[in-house]
Amino acid sequence: MKVFISCDIEGVSGVVDSRDQTSSEGKDYQRARELMTQEVNSVIEGAVQAGAKEILVNDSHGSMRNILIEKIHPAATLLTGSPKPLSMMQGISEEFDACIFVGYHSRMGSPGVLSHTISGASVADIWVNDILVGETGINAGIAGFYGVPVVLVCGDDVLAQEAKQLLPHVHTAVVKEAVGRYAAKCLPPQKVKEVLIKSTIQALESIEEAVPWLLESPVTFKIRFKDSGLAEGAARMPYTEVLDPRTVSFTADDYMTAFMGLRSMIALSRG
Ligand SMILES: [Zn+2]
Repeated sequence: MKVFISCDIEGVSGVVDSRDQTSSEGKDYQRARELMTQEVNSVIEGAVQAGAKEILVNDSHGSMRNILIEKIHPAATLLTGSPKPLSMMQGISEEFDACIFVGYHSRMGSPGVLSHTISGASVADIWVNDILVGETGINAGIAGFYGVPVVLVCGDDVLAQEAKQLLPHVHTAVVKEAVGRYAAKCLPPQKVKEVLIKSTIQALESIEEAVPWLLESPVTFKIRFKDSGLAEGAARMPYTEVLDPRTVSFTADDYMTAFMGLRSMIALSRG
């Protein structure tokens, strides 16, 4: 069994703040990346116990150089650094049997901890084929394109609900309960470790029930930006459609081309 893990930081237990904890200049960033490394290690350990023979971890936050390689579980290979064409999903392919999201957060506009969708500075909402999605949905679509099901999503309770709504088969591991966008009731690291190992084993043992998330062709990504100036920037991309002053869409025959369009529109929105 081959397992692909995409690991973000905002959903890690203990992480509730973007300035001090999730940006590399933050005073508590070093601690946050330690916690991130520990959470991904627990999921790797669970995967090993469930019989995984190959595990690829893709560091998926910010610079994508957060996970401490000197501390990562020896059963995994770490994909570190950016930019990467598939971003948070770089490394996924048809060869994998299961995909797991660790340290993930809920979509922009939801009451989860540090909720955002790709770019907190520019994106208000993203829909794929008229389904409102966060990073969980967008990345599950990439896994689905390669025929790989997302079996487990780890983060706060709001994220767990978002994931279940989209992927009814998915297992969730709740490591913190959102009290607000910048506050949460957090499980301590030792307890988090137990929860993540157990959830990973359960998710991988019921892999037969998991279904890859496949979107019908053509695939349309629609972005509502936070202001009209950002949408004007995005609309410079050829073949986009302006739906209203803040909303731009792009349609392609296949999911991966549509996803590349999504990334390009967000990049162009900022100037
Ligand atoms: Zn992140």
